[in-house]
This record gives sequence, structure tokens and C-alpha cells, in this order.
Amino acid sequence: MAKRVIPELDVDKLRENSMTSIRLGVEDFKRCRVEGGAGDPARALSSIRNLFAGVLLLFKFKIATCADDPDDAAALIFNPPEVLPQSDGDGGIEWVPVGQFRTTTIDVGTIRKRFEAFGIEVDWKVVDKLQGCRNHLEHLHPAHSLGEVADFVAELFPLLRDFIENELEESPAEILAESWQAMLKHHTFFVDNSQRCEEGWAEASVPSGMKQWLDACKCPECGSTLLAPAQSHLDAGETVESDEEAFKAVCVGCGHVELIVPLMMQELEKAHDYDPRDGEEPTLEDCDECLRGTFVIHEQRCSWCGAELQYTECKVCEEPLGQDDQFNGGLCSYHAYMYEKFMRED
Ligand SMILES: [Zn+2]
Ligand SMILES: [Zn+2]
Ligand SMILES: [Zn+2]
Repeated sequence: MAKRVIPELDVDKLRENSMTSIRLGVEDFKRCRVEGGAGDPARALSSIRNLFAGVLLLFKFKIATCADDPDDAAALIFNPPEVLPQSDGDGGIEWVPVGQFRTTTIDVGTIRKRFEAFGIEVDWKVVDKLQGCRNHLEHLHPAHSLGEVADFVAELFPLLRDFIENELEESPAEILAESWQAMLKHHTFFVDNSQRCEEGWAEASVPSGMKQWLDACKCPECGSTLLAPAQSHLDAGETVESDEEAFKAVCVGCGHVELIVPLMMQELEKAHDYDPRDGEEPTLEDCDECLRGTFVIHEQRCSWCGAELQYTECKVCEEPLGQDDQFNGGLCSYHAYMYEKFMRED
């Protein structure tokens, strides 16, 4: 086989570039949200781009250090030649690499595969979220995403901490210096506030079936998930259940005030979205008990009032029943009809 030419890889440079990107990302983050609101929103996009690039470089650095031979290290980082089938001239098939290693480096999907191969652990949920955030920031006005970026930086903190400590066996405070202190401070702020929000909503008594939709709510202005119940409601002893139409939430990130129930409903509906053109059927309907549009058909349960069906399946064919079938004494509409017909003929 012809000798493969692999682009040269400077492993130390990978690491250096990673740290620079992360530092720049944190700098941008600080500038995009100066307290008091005089920050520069355009920096949000730059912050996410730099942080994402920095994290990927850090991952590549780790992968490269798994090999002692510099050529092996490079082969792990650059995109390998395509492997294509070829006839062996005797009815058999061989898979052979065609062409050379490319000068582009591996993407997130391939990094993931390399991590699996070398037993390197990382919280992919956070990485996926960072990538999603970066992709959709490109299409949004950055001012509407400041809160989202802030949440993200807070979530990135534990990922970086664990990765640098466990996989690189170094001290993040040492290698990231002031950037690390800024991230730490922001992370503490985020954790304290999400706990405060959590406690506030517990006091505001949100129906338990709606809790997950409350957790999915984001500030419509800045995208932050740090929404707290308005203190005036709590002081007056009002709850989401008792003051459904008036209960407000306040965004910790930007101070925006919004009615919480329509936000929760939006999240519930978004999750149950369907397209009739694809032959999909609704999975949500009005509840016969509380009349809200919160009855989840396949769960046979209302997310708001917790109403459940008396008859969950047909006694004859075990077909799941809906709210409309409750008057048939435990039969589906078909078997209720057959039963009636049988009784008439008798
Ligand atoms: Zn906000
Ligand atoms: Zn209900
Ligand atoms: Zn039936």
C-alpha cells in the first residue's frame, strides 16, 4: 500500500489555541452582559463561537495525547481518507481507503466516536446544547439570546472543570486564570438563583403535571431559564392555581415580567405539536374535568388537574380508550355499537 501522507499536527499549539479561545469566549461573555444593562449584545454570538471552538480544541488535544507516535496522533485528529468497496476480481469485495488524509480536522460526531474508543468521558448533553445554541444564535438577534448564553456559560463550567481535572489532570484555575474566576462567579450566581426560583415556584404551587413545562419556560426577551415567581404574588399568598390568569414571573437575567401560565401552555403545546399533513393526530385535547387544553391523550391524564379516565381500555379488544369513550361502560365505540346491535336483535 502507498504511504499515507498525514498533515503535521502541533499538539501543544492545539492546547494553546484552546485556552485562548476559551479565554476570549469568557471575555466576550463579560462584555455582552455588563451589570446594569450597558453590555454589548453582539458579543454574545462571539462568546458562544469562541467557547464552542475552545471546547472542541480541548477535546482534540485530549484525543491527540492518547497516541505516543506523532503520526498516530495526527491520524486521530485529521479526517481520514474515505473507505470504499472494491472488487477483488473474484466475486469478493474489499474495503480500501482511497486518497489521503484531509487537512480538515474531525467534527463533533467523530470526536464523540474517538472519545468512546478511548474511554474519555464528557457530558455530551452540554456539548450538544452548546452546538445548538451556536447554530441558532447565527439566525437570531443576539439581544434576544443574552440570557440563553448566560445559562449556557453556567452549564459549561462543570463540564470544563471535570474535563480539565479528570482528563487532563490539571487545575482549571491555574490554566484559565481570571477567566476561570469569572466563570466560577457566574456559575455560583446561576446556581443560587435557580435554587431561589425553584423554591419560589414550590411556594407558588404549580400543578405537579405542569412542573416539567414550567421548567422548559424561557424568558421571551432574553432566553434565560431563570424565571422567578413575582414576589408580590407570594407576599399576598397567591398561587398559580388560585390566580392562574394574573400570576406573573420575573426574569432574573433581564427583569422582564410575563404571565407564567401562557408560557407554560406554550411549552406544553410545542411538545405536542403535530402536522395533519403528515397524517399525524393531535396528542392533546380539552379536559372534560377542568376544560383546559391540557389533557394528554396517550397518557390518559390531564397535566393540569390530574383527571384520569375511569375506563382505560376496552374490555373486549383492549384498545386504549379516550375521554369520549367513558360513557360506553368500558367498551370502545365499535364494541359498544356491536353490543347495542346485539341487544336490539335479541
Ligand atoms: Zn430575560
Ligand atoms: Zn383537567
Ligand atoms: Zn373494543
